[in-house]
Amino acid sequence: MPRVVTCTFCGQPIKPGQGIMYVRLDGTVERYCSSKCFKSAVKYHRNPRRLAWVRKAKAQA
Ligand SMILES: [Zn+2]
Repeated sequence: MPRVVTCTFCGQPIKPGQGIMYVRLDGTVERYCSSKCFKSAVKYHRNPRRLAWVRKAKAQA
């Protein structure tokens, strides 16, 4: 069990007890650091590469 996981959307580390774990119907486990990332991915179907506020985190990965 990983203690620190990274956000599926923005790539930032998530501490234990924080964030949202979302399981899709096909069984894919996705973790989001905030409701901002969760809504952007699930509700609005946004591409992280097109958002200015995730560009920095994606460049490091
Ligand atoms: Zn995030």
